[in-house]
Amino acid sequence: MSRLVVVSNRVGPLRGATKAGGLAVALADALRTRRGLWFGWSGEVRDGPQGHEVQAQSLGGVTRAVIDLTSTEHDDYYNGFANRCLWPLFHFRLDLATFDRRYYEGYQRANQRFAQALTPLLRDDDLIWVHDYHLLPFGETLRDMGARQRLGFFLHIPWPVREILTALPHHEHLVRALFSYDLVGFQTEADLLRFQDYVLREAGGSQRGNRLYAYGRSVIAQAYPIGIDTDQFATLAASDEAGHEAAKLKAAIFDRTQIVGVDRLDYTKGLPERFQAYEKLLELYPEAHGQVSFLQIAPTSRGEVQEYIDIRHQLDALAGHINGRFAQLDWTPLRYINRAITRRQLAGIYRASRIGLVTPLRDGMNLVAKEYVAAQDPDNPGVLVLSRFAGSAKQMAAALIVNPYDPVGVAEAIETARHMPLAQRRDRHRALMHELRRSDVASWSQNFLTALDHAVAAVPPGV
Ligand code: UDP
Repeated sequence: MSRLVVVSNRVGPLRGATKAGGLAVALADALRTRRGLWFGWSGEVRDGPQGHEVQAQSLGGVTRAVIDLTSTEHDDYYNGFANRCLWPLFHFRLDLATFDRRYYEGYQRANQRFAQALTPLLRDDDLIWVHDYHLLPFGETLRDMGARQRLGFFLHIPWPVREILTALPHHEHLVRALFSYDLVGFQTEADLLRFQDYVLREAGGSQRGNRLYAYGRSVIAQAYPIGIDTDQFATLAASDEAGHEAAKLKAAIFDRTQIVGVDRLDYTKGLPERFQAYEKLLELYPEAHGQVSFLQIAPTSRGEVQEYIDIRHQLDALAGHINGRFAQLDWTPLRYINRAITRRQLAGIYRASRIGLVTPLRDGMNLVAKEYVAAQDPDNPGVLVLSRFAGSAKQMAAALIVNPYDPVGVAEAIETARHMPLAQRRDRHRALMHELRRSDVASWSQNFLTALDHAVAAVPPGV
């Protein structure tokens, strides 16, 4: 079996399974099986020569190799091009995207430095798996340096529609770079279709099965929807520690219906719209006053970026407005927490919540939706209210699917969830769990790696 090399902007911990998310755990498992190497940014910013060195550390047959970013790289590559340009654009927010030539050049340079640092660590028969939008050109850069290994890429965020993508200066270079990989994976069929649409219509390419031809090269493109560690998460949610968290929550809200939202504080998550939908619920259904309690956990994310500072201010104001308008002496309608919560606490909170509100305006997959379902008590499960614009919506049709832009529709769905009979809640939960077990995160990484193992470069048609 070939050695596996995972490349991602941030390198997960190799230990601490319950603290790390399901993705880090799944990748660490795959790396252990294949005695692999995980390479990326250390998370540290350091100027000066020592920051350029690779820091490697091995544990249980797996090597973790990282480099620091310089402050310029952090500004231009990470905060700049990745988070202020690609992130909004790929989430269909052209209005929030910043186009700055300096950011683009910094992004290319950082990809080059990553590739230079990794090249000496590679072996001829390695299987290399690159992750996410920070590293779109990484494979091409590695090939330019002589790499001949099989190279796979997985995009964790959505692929945008052609009309939006073509607004990005240098879009053709970024798409062309993807053709240096042997296999490119997307979260959903819809993302795959949008990628194919660009290749066929913008790049003048062609398609045979799941292989696309353009730029004199070819690549296999396929959807691999990511899952969670379903059974482990369900076990965690049923544990005593999670139960302790659930009991604390129940004591705080008495026997009110707990509604929960858990999201990084990001403008893609539809948080202002969600708060407005909750306000609508209180407006349209006065009988719900004092009966419901909405808890929104939204840890600050990318706090140095202006667009994130703006959304935080907007939410502070909305939360204050809703509580000011509806609170009673013995009832706070909305509780809003700006700190990160551990996975164990989250598992308990999900399980104690009758309604899970997951209403992003656009999301690659959304793992919170899956975790909320996995955490439920199968005998008395809660109801998931899920945006049609989350990648997970296709696999989770048994949730109450909503349009997050329609506050009345979301308020009605919350009301439906509040009154849903037990038998229906159980049926929906069973259907959702069936799918979550069938496509968990371990099978996701196995499926991708098996396809990459078998991916062989093909000669373009007509050559
Ligand atoms: N999460 C967490 N603590 C928090 C908020 C979120 O551990 O306070 C975790 C959550 O359990 C989930 C992940 O962060 O595993 C978020 O993944 P998702 O796909 O929902 O959204 P992303 O943040 O990747 O856009």
